[in-house]
Amino acid sequence: MTSAPSPRRESTAIRSETVRQILEHYRAIWALEHALALMQWDLETYMPREGIVGRAIARAEIAQLIQRIMLDEKLVRLVERAKEEKDLTDIERGIIRVLSRELKYFQRVPPDVIREFNKVTSEASVAWRAARERSRFEILAPHLERIVELSRVIAERLGYEEHPYDALLDLYEEGLTRRDIEQIFSTLEPVIKGLLRRLEALGWPRSHPLERVPCKRQRIEALVVKTLEMLGLPKDRLRVDTSPHPFSIEITQRYDVRITVRYRDVNFKETLFSALHEYGHALYSLGIDESLLMTPVGTPNSLGLHESQSRFVENFVGRSREFASLIMPVLRECLPFMSDYAEEDVFYYFNTVRPYPIRVESDEVTYNLHVLLRYKLESMLVAGEIKVSQLPELWNYEMERLLGIRPRNDAEGVLQDIHWANGLIGYFPTYTLGNAIAAMIYYKHGRVGELVMSGNFAQLWEYLREKVHKWGSIYAPKELLARSFGEAYNAEYLVRYLEEKFR
Ligand code: MG
Repeated sequence: MTSAPSPRRESTAIRSETVRQILEHYRAIWALEHALALMQWDLETYMPREGIVGRAIARAEIAQLIQRIMLDEKLVRLVERAKEEKDLTDIERGIIRVLSRELKYFQRVPPDVIREFNKVTSEASVAWRAARERSRFEILAPHLERIVELSRVIAERLGYEEHPYDALLDLYEEGLTRRDIEQIFSTLEPVIKGLLRRLEALGWPRSHPLERVPCKRQRIEALVVKTLEMLGLPKDRLRVDTSPHPFSIEITQRYDVRITVRYRDVNFKETLFSALHEYGHALYSLGIDESLLMTPVGTPNSLGLHESQSRFVENFVGRSREFASLIMPVLRECLPFMSDYAEEDVFYYFNTVRPYPIRVESDEVTYNLHVLLRYKLESMLVAGEIKVSQLPELWNYEMERLLGIRPRNDAEGVLQDIHWANGLIGYFPTYTLGNAIAAMIYYKHGRVGELVMSGNFAQLWEYLREKVHKWGSIYAPKELLARSFGEAYNAEYLVRYLEEKFR
């Protein structure tokens, strides 16, 4: 296969006077989003619990302010005018494309629908916590029913060609359709099921003794820091903190990115891999080109592309044989009990495979079946083919069909993720898309293992920066992928990777 030439920038300068004026307006939006991001980071890390009282109101006010500036007649008119201009550069066209998408949402979805959606999802998030704690789906159900109804209204307002679900997918991954997703899953499902049968016959480890070895928090913390340093941690631009749910967030693209890690006193791989995952996300935000700073295209492109970067670092680098070998001295230095284990143990510990009810604790092989399950159910909900009340039963049925296991209760079944309660319908497929894109990048590069083996991460990250990061959102995701790699969504690379690795 021949690799496509790198995308080439026409010009870094903004030539259009209209676009220049748009960017002047946009600067206030950028600043408010900067403030929102910092507030969000603070909320999840250091804010005292009761601080939520003021924070929730401050966030809602700022969000409204952003909406008002966005819908300012002058800005809307400038965007309309820019659309008519000829000879725009790629960056200028990107700026107009991104702003038009945001405007379309606010212009087509009535304000009272947006307001109700925000209110219902805030209440549903609280209900979700109670429902999960007590494993009682009926606590969440009425909220979820309203969320599905409103999502259907939003889909109708936004418009779609084939399926209302397409309108929702497009919110998270520009241009992604149900057709794309169907194609990916119809390729993956039989392969993964076959692979699971084969791994069982082979006796591939389903668990590992290292999962139960207790570890002091300070030791895992040292391991995480040393590992990230090995990957090139740019301390002047990236902070690492602690939070109950690991995440990454950009405050200022390129210059101020934060990630968080969660520590447990056992099974150190969980902390290590979540740190690698967030580090991959952070690399993307850090790699945005200087010229895009504070513009609408100066952020990572889409959820699928973002996730491809985190998955690349977590799985294609972190769970490789080469990485197990490279990290051995660091493991022995930070965790004294590791002197009893060999490289081979570490590789299998990092790569246990077993059908498990919880998505976030699932391995590379089974993970995408969890996403498939959610995709099926949510696309049927949006189409009105099933009712919210049927979810628990359908969830368990699909889990059994796909993975051969049944959750013991709804807490480890239909209630395990917060996404739907947060109103995120159409979001899950971007996880699998991320895995598929990461696999494609792995094979297009072709020498990932070699670079990992020699610890040459700078060269590997430079490749990602050149092909993906630096372009921000100048191009729609499919276009960027086609320009950088010669094709966009193709699940065959992920199939090849899984087949080659889990033999
Ligand atoms: Mg992620």
